[in-house]
This record gives sequence, structure tokens and C-alpha cells, in this order.
Amino acid sequence: MKGIVWFRSDLRIDDNPALNAALSNCDEVLAIYIFSQSQWEIHNESNIKQEFLFKNLTELKGSLEDLNIPLIAINADSYKTLPQDLSSFAVEQKIEHVFCNNEFGFNEAVRDQNSKELLKKNNIQFSSFNDQVIYDPGFLKTGQGKPFSVFTPFKRRWVEHFEINFLEFESPSKKLKNNSTIQSNLSALKFVKTHSANIDLWPAGESAAQEKLKNFLQSKAQFYNESRNSPILDGTSRISPYLALGILSPKRCILEGLKLNNFEFTSGNKGICKWIDEIVWREFYRNIMHSFAKVSKNQPFQDYTNSIQWRFSSEELEAFHAGKTGFPIVDAGIRQMLAEGWMHNRLRMVVAMFFTKNMLHDWRLGEKFFMQHLIDGDFSSNNGGWQWSSSTGTDSAPYFRIFNPITQSQNFDPNGEFIKKFIPELKDVPVAQIHQPKDDLFSSADYPSPILDLKESRLRAIQAFKDAREVSGI
Ligand SMILES: Cc1cc2nc3c(=O)[nH]c(=O)nc-3n(C[C@H](O)[C@H](O)[C@H](O)COP(=O)(O)OP(=O)(O)OC[C@H]3O[C@@H](n4cnc5c(N)ncnc54)[C@H](O)[C@@H]3O)c2cc1C
Repeated sequence: MKGIVWFRSDLRIDDNPALNAALSNCDEVLAIYIFSQSQWEIHNESNIKQEFLFKNLTELKGSLEDLNIPLIAINADSYKTLPQDLSSFAVEQKIEHVFCNNEFGFNEAVRDQNSKELLKKNNIQFSSFNDQVIYDPGFLKTGQGKPFSVFTPFKRRWVEHFEINFLEFESPSKKLKNNSTIQSNLSALKFVKTHSANIDLWPAGESAAQEKLKNFLQSKAQFYNESRNSPILDGTSRISPYLALGILSPKRCILEGLKLNNFEFTSGNKGICKWIDEIVWREFYRNIMHSFAKVSKNQPFQDYTNSIQWRFSSEELEAFHAGKTGFPIVDAGIRQMLAEGWMHNRLRMVVAMFFTKNMLHDWRLGEKFFMQHLIDGDFSSNNGGWQWSSSTGTDSAPYFRIFNPITQSQNFDPNGEFIKKFIPELKDVPVAQIHQPKDDLFSSADYPSPILDLKESRLRAIQAFKDAREVSGI
């Protein structure tokens, strides 16, 4: 049989169920990647992520060629035209079976359904697998048979049902005969966009990803519980870009973490338990996306928050985008993202809360800004993070619990080292003043005055939420 593996967010050989199924069932396999620039833009995905994608495809091509599988790049106009592009290619190549791993976004599910139907009309089978989660999305249910919308009970159920054989997976050992008549053609994809973030921080390929995972687990994971909130300690794994494009699988991450903790989820080393929790958070947000289609349609999880009167100020937005709000920890976080394509989790929460509460700007604008700059841009985690911070989401921060960026800065960057790293204008400011907005003590520094008053803006946000609740009769 002749088959296709359609690669999407699973750019790896290790723990790839679609690839394994194709190798088990077919004697000739082609790999394809279908790229659509316009779809990339509709989803606001960043230029650094696009460059990272192309670099990883090059690495993947090498690994696939070792198995005698050519990687063919196909350009599509959009998800609308893609099923026809896929089907025409499959018919032309006399393909009998297409294999892929599921993506859970609403548009992606429609794209796959349309592809499946069109292939079926041409007598081509379509099989899909779940590689991004341990449990099929929607499988774990509350006692009332409903989808979970709160993390803690979801995690409890996740652990209760867990069996170690869920983490059994193969990596391909079978090499096909070299009988392909078609050659890899990645040159059909060209990276033409520009960005100023440092892509060298993110070496491409599965070996690099596994090396990052190994280094983290060996030297940082045990201390993760204490160090994960400190941006200057850099105590997290930084594997999110690799998970977002599927260069590393969540199963591999959980398996390697468990090996270090005697296969315990809730006892043993607290750092490893906490780190595995974070991978489960990722799965939780994928379940939310699967079970509540509204989050894929630009809607808040909490319906009443549709009535919030968000502000809009182009000057404030401009200052925010440039990392010039006059609040050092907020600006340092934004500038880290502009410089590295990545932002520390603690700062993502601080920045998103400042944007949606103190600035009282619509979370969707912030969500888009992050997607446009993050190398790890991932719809469900980003949407989940923004909706958590803006109190519009599932399991969110209560609307009246608003982080104070100055206290956050004092707690998590006590010596101001992170601020000084990303805001060199403040390098000579004494530690006692570094967390505060600009005042007389460092008036000479070339750094903006604060765009807002923290106390007033906090009260304004609480009132806006109260008004929305009243309008909705809550
Ligand atoms: C406003 C906001 C936006 C976010 N946008 C994204 C995004 O676009 N892409 C993304 O991958 N993560 C996003 N996150 C979650 C989190 O900030 C990043 O996953 C984390 O900072 C990545 O760094 P790491 O790989 O070192 O994480 P580690 O701390 O080492 O955690 C390991 C992995 O667990 C997952 N994870 C960790 N924290 C979370 C979380 N809160 N929610 C879901 N998964 C998590 C990630 O896949 C991460 O790589 C966002 C969080 C917030 C508050």
C-alpha cells in the first residue's frame, strides 16, 4: 500500500503515532507539509515561529530521508482550498491512505473533516491519531458527565485513570525500500518574513529539543518548585516552542519526568510533580478548546464578560507594544518577548493582567499581540493564559484579584537583575527604586513616565467587571 503522512504540529520521528501507523501499513510512504501563508496570518502566528518551522522542517526532512521517506512541501491558499490541494496530490500519486495526528482547533477540525470527505470520494482512507494529549479530548468527564472546566478536579481524574502503558510508544525502526519516484522539495517553501528576535536561542530539530529536555531534567527540574517563578534564574525548561510545533511530544516529556520521580505524580520530588502538572495544564486547555467551541471563535468562556466596556487608547497600546508603559517589570517582560520570541510565565501573567485590568483593554488584543511575537505561540495555551489573566476564562483569577506589578517585581525580581537585563536605561537605578515607576530619584534616566495610576486603574477595572455582572443579572 502507498500512504501519506501529513505532518502538521508533530514535526518529529519520536512518538509519532501517524508515522508509526503509516510505516506499519504501507510499503511506500510520502510525507507532506501543507503551508498556507494566509492561514498563518489569519491566526496571527509570528514570523519567528515561521522561521523556526522552516528550520525544523529541514531537520525533519533529513530524518525522514534516513527512513527513505521524501518530504514534499505543498503551498495552499487557505484551509478552504487545502482539502482540494491534498486530494489532487493524493490522487496524482496513487495514494491509498492518509495518516495524520489531530489538531484540536475549530478551523483545523473543519479542515480535516472536509479533507476526509473529499479523500473518501476518491477511495482514499483517512486515519487520525491523538499525539498532543494523554486522554482523547472530552474523554475525562465530571461526576455529572460534563466536560471539566476547572483544572484541579481535571488533574485528579487525569491521575486516577492513568495507566503506565499510556506512555508506551514506539519510535520507527523500520526503514522502507527506496522506491519513491518523487523527491523532497522543501525549497518550495521560502522564509521571506523578517523579525528581530534572536532565533539562535532556539536550535532546530529533535536532537536539540531532546537535549534541552534532558538538561532541564538533570539540572533544574528538582528545584522547579522554588525557581520557576524567578525570571532571572531561568528555572523553567524553555521547551514550549518545541511542544508547540510537536518537535517534542508531551508523552516523551511526562515519561522522562516520571522516570526521575519513581513514576509518582503526586509524591516524591515536588519540582518534578509541579512540572508535570504544567504539561497537564496544556492538556486541560486543549480539552477546553475541544469541549467549548466558543473559545475558538473569539468568545470569552464566561459569557457575562461580553458586557465589559473595554477601553481603547492607541497611545497606551503603542507604549505597551514597545515595552514603554513606565512599569519596569511589565516593560522588561514585553522586551524579553521582542528580543527572544519567548516570555517567562510569571511575566506573561503580570503583563496580561496589567493589560486587561489596569489598562482595561480587551484581552483579545493582548492575545493577538502575544501570538504575533511568540515563538511558542499556541492557540489553546495562549487563549487560556489570556482568559485566565483577564478573568474571562475557565478557572480564572477572580476579577477582583489584580496583581500589583510593583509587588510582583519586588517578589520575583528582588534585585532588579531581570529588569536591568532587558531595560538597560535603568542599569544605574538603585535596587530600592528599580521596581517603581519613574520618579524624581531617577528622573534623568531615559525611561518613560507611567502611563497610568495603579490605584485608580485597579478600582476602574473592578467597577467595569461589577457593571458587566449587573447588566447580566449576576
Ligand atoms: C497570558 C499567557 C499567554 C501564554 N501563551 C502561551 C503560548 O502561546 N504558548 C505556550 O506554550 N504557553 C503559553 N503560556 C503558558 C506558559 O507561560 C508557557 O507555556 C511557559 O512559559 C513556557 O515556558 P517553559 O517551556 O519553560 O515552561 P515550563 O515551566 O518548563 O513548563 C513545561 C511545559 O508545560 C506547559 N505549560 C507550562 N505552563 C503552562 C500554562 N500556564 N498553560 C499551559 N501550558 C503550560 C508548556 O507546554 C511548557 O513548555 C501562556 C501563559 C500566559 C499567562
